[in-house]
Amino acid sequence: MGDKKKTTPEVVEMEKIVGFAKRRGFVFPSSEIYGGFGAVYDYGPYGAELAKNIREAWWKAMVQQNDNIVGLDSSIFMSPKIWEASGHVGGFSDPLSECKKCHSRVRVDHLLEDAGVFADEKMTEEEINGLLVENKEKLRCPKCGGSDFSQAKNFNLLVQSNLGNFTGDWDKEPTYLRGETCQGIYVNYKNVLDSTRVKVPFGIAQVGKAFRNEITARQFIFRKREFEQMEMQMFVHPDDAMDMYEKWRERRWQYYLDLGIKEENLKWHEHENLVFYAKAAWDIEYRFPFGFKELEGIHARGDYDLTQHAKFSGKKLEYRDPKTNEVYVPHIVETSVGVDRTFLAVLTEAYVEEDLGDDKSRTVLKLPKQLSPIKIAVFPLLKNKPKLVEKAREIYDELKMQYMCEFDDNGNVGKRYRRQDEIGTPYCVTVDFDTLETGEVTVRDRDTMEQERVSVDELQDFFTKNL
Ligand code: ATP
Repeated sequence: MGDKKKTTPEVVEMEKIVGFAKRRGFVFPSSEIYGGFGAVYDYGPYGAELAKNIREAWWKAMVQQNDNIVGLDSSIFMSPKIWEASGHVGGFSDPLSECKKCHSRVRVDHLLEDAGVFADEKMTEEEINGLLVENKEKLRCPKCGGSDFSQAKNFNLLVQSNLGNFTGDWDKEPTYLRGETCQGIYVNYKNVLDSTRVKVPFGIAQVGKAFRNEITARQFIFRKREFEQMEMQMFVHPDDAMDMYEKWRERRWQYYLDLGIKEENLKWHEHENLVFYAKAAWDIEYRFPFGFKELEGIHARGDYDLTQHAKFSGKKLEYRDPKTNEVYVPHIVETSVGVDRTFLAVLTEAYVEEDLGDDKSRTVLKLPKQLSPIKIAVFPLLKNKPKLVEKAREIYDELKMQYMCEFDDNGNVGKRYRRQDEIGTPYCVTVDFDTLETGEVTVRDRDTMEQERVSVDELQDFFTKNL
């Protein structure tokens, strides 16, 4: 053991999560049989369910439960002009440098941050390079520990495509895969206003893929090149923007507590260097296995977005108050979070290795029930007793009409419990010989591991109450 490389507990934990996620069908590296594809991941059977439940929980909290927020599903491809108006073509870039020892590319702002130096978002290439030179002694390559880096160059994060361009010269007129979903919201603001009965203040919410040429391909699904955002833009009167902002800060914090995240694992982080148009910007950070990092951004964006799109499109994007007739450009309060970062946060939060005494232990995902990929597993006590199997199938067939269920007759019941614990299934139902006599099944609770007998006739009611 002596010469084994020392690893910090944090690293071990991340490795555990990554290994677990793959082994139990939550997250697979993309294109694995071809050696993988940097910073792209696929959700496996349980991961797809968890991601779906995360989207649904967000949609419910944002759209379903707010009568002044409506949904939208805009396309990934949009007019390239949108990305000029938004400033992404000119300024959506990260400073990139190369470690001269191992040749891995690193984000200079991250490199500096690790060394306790904070770069301003507005800095020019020259200024960033100045910081690189000034702090040369403190910088360490996260991969090999090297300390010699090439000059920093700004690298644009937008992903280009040749959609609709048949000239073969698509570098000259690229279209982009969207770098964030909110632009689709801004450019549909008028359509929503004209086609529904919303009045300021109102919000538009959407969930969808976004693409960024992220420089560093580390940290698992925390930083992907193809990822998914859940964004809500609230359109408000300029005088009300800051009150609205505070309201959403509170509500989004509470949302994570409701999702079962412990408050001690959440932290506010205020942006020190605001982009010029922003009025306020705070992030909610989560304690990921590699430390506190951004989970969600909550931003007061002023009238920048609508003003820019009005300027570039030549269309008026003002609002006329139906009561007062006041005409103004609404301000925007945004909440923006990734499906993937929520996924990693809830997985990290829920993953528990529990000591059961007597040298026994279990791995259990203590997910909130609404997020569990499988809600109920149904077992016949024995695989080779047709009557038990038939009854269990009957129960399973009924429950699956309403809940994601799994039927399992492999191994013994103890093993089946462990398997379901690992994927976070809140309830297991077992059909045994007594069931055939009394009409009762055993329902076992994931967290307490307690078992109770419930009549088959009352199962639906039981789950309506408990799930
Ligand atoms: P970071 O500073 O970590 O790169 P960001 O500030 O650029 O993030 P935003 O542009 O504010 O992120 O995006 C809003 C949200 O989208 C983030 O809080 C995060 O949850 C998610 N997100 C952004 N980039 C990625 C990515 N590459 N992979 C996964 N999720 C992402």
